[in-house]
Parts: sequence; C-alpha cells; structure tokens
Amino acid sequence: ELTFYYQPLVNLNDLKVVKVESLIRWFKPDGSMIPPDIFIPVAEQCGLISKIGFLAIDCACRQLAQWQAMGFDDLQISVNLSSIEFQDNNLLQNVQQSLRLHNCQGNKLIIEVTESLFMEDKSSVQHTMLALKNEGVVFALDDFGTGYSSFSYLQDLPISFLKIDKSFLKNVCTNARSAAIARTIIDVGINLGLEVVAEGIEDLATLNYVKDNGCKFGQGYFLHRPMSVEN
Ligand code: C2E
Ligand code: CA
Ligand code: CA
Repeated sequence: ELTFYYQPLVNLNDLKVVKVESLIRWFKPDGSMIPPDIFIPVAEQCGLISKIGFLAIDCACRQLAQWQAMGFDDLQISVNLSSIEFQDNNLLQNVQQSLRLHNCQGNKLIIEVTESLFMEDKSSVQHTMLALKNEGVVFALDDFGTGYSSFSYLQDLPISFLKIDKSFLKNVCTNARSAAIARTIIDVGINLGLEVVAEGIEDLATLNYVKDNGCKFGQGYFLHRPMSVEN
C-alpha cells in the first residue's frame, strides 16, 4: 500500500526541472490516503522505519534509472530521511546496494535531512555523511530555520543545499517580517556557498521574490504538484 509521489524542483532562471523529490504515500484499499506526517512517526515508534528507509532509497534509485534510460541524464532525485532513518546502522550498505543494483551514480542521489539531526552526536553524523559522500551522495538540509539551526553543524557537515521551509515564504509579499526572514535565510545559504531551494512556492509573486533575492531553485504547487509516475 506504500508508493511514492514525485515533486519536480526547477531552476528558477529557466523553470527547467532539474531535480525530483520523492514523497511517500500510503493509500489504503478504500482509496483514502494517510499522509507521511502521520505514519512516519508511528513507523519510527514500532520499529518499521528502517524498512521504509530502505524502500525509499531503493525505489528512488530504480525510478532514477528508468528516467535516465529515457534520456534525463542530469536529473537528480532526493529522498527524505528522518533522523532515526539516518542513524540506521545499515544506511550506508543500503545506499551502496541500491546504487549498484540500479546502476546509478551516487551524485544523482540527494538525501534530505532536517535540523533534528543536529541534536545528535556531531562526529557520528559527520562520519555517516562523509561515508555516503564518498559514494557521491549529496545532502540537502530540509525545513531550514524551523529547528535547531546550528551554524557549527552547517560549517562542519558536507551539506550542498539549504531548503527554506515553506512557512517562511507564506507571506513574503504581504508581511515585511516574513520577507526579512526569508531574505536573511537565503543570504545565510548564499554566504555559506550553498545552493538555496525555496519550497512551498504557491504564487508568482513569491516565486519572483525568492528569485530576485538570489534563490536558485524552487519547488511548490505553483510550479508542479507532487504526482505519481504515471502522471
Ligand atoms: P517535506 O520534505 O518538507 O516535503 C514537502 C511537503 O510539502 C510535502 O508534503 C509536499 O507535498 C508539500 N508541498 C509541496 N509543495 C507545496 C506547496 O506549494 N504548498 C504546500 N502547502 N505544501 C507543499 P507531504 O508529501 O505530505 O510530506 C510531508 C512530510 O513528510 C515531508 O515534508 C517529509 O518530511 C515527510 N516525508 C515525505 N516522504 C517521506 C519519506 O519517504 N520518508 C520520510 N522519512 N519522510 C517523508
Ligand atoms: Ca523534503
Ligand atoms: Ca521541507
């Protein structure tokens, strides 16, 4: 009953799709959907999460291989991993296995982590990230600004993309404070040499705002909704 939807992420200069984020969905037999926000924490509590993490990585690599075979050579795919999934002892092995099995290059796989990982032991997180980076894997810091936004972790971990949380973009065109926060977060990313992604873009004015302030990539319902492969 688990499947994945994919939401395109575009280069804001030409609106071309450059990456795709995989988002898990649970459809019950009656057609109703349980959102990941609800069932991922439950899966973490009952010990099923490591299977879901492996499924997410393996499905992403398999799907990427199919798109590459269709000619989308430069496309990258991102997978969301919770802090518990990221600390799974089998993570590195699972990633290596899926990359080889589906003949994918590691640099086409992006792992999205959140700042909750910054609450964990830095050297252990760093060790896992470097081992994955060694396979080519790229990291994005998701929901940036909503949690424990530690500059020391940002400085020491091999993170390539900062994703500004959608809550900061909601009112950028009507609220000066929201606009200032969004602009500041974009500046933090740019000044640290990271690529900044604005998520949750729901209208043209927000798109223009983040683009004009130096954001390179964007994602949101205004551009593309999450969709099944068939769509
Ligand atoms: P996220 O990683 O921050 O993903 C973005 C969420 O915002 C997605 O919700 C997406 O459908 C939604 N979204 C995209 N564009 C817009 C927009 O323009 N406006 C608004 N209001 N929402 C937008 P979704 O798919 O329900 O996922 C919720 C969260 O569940 C994700 O947040 C992520 O943290 C988690 N999640 C999703 N898939 C997985 C997975 O495979 N594994 C794990 N561990 N977590 C996942
Ligand atoms: Ca994400
Ligand atoms: Ca996010």
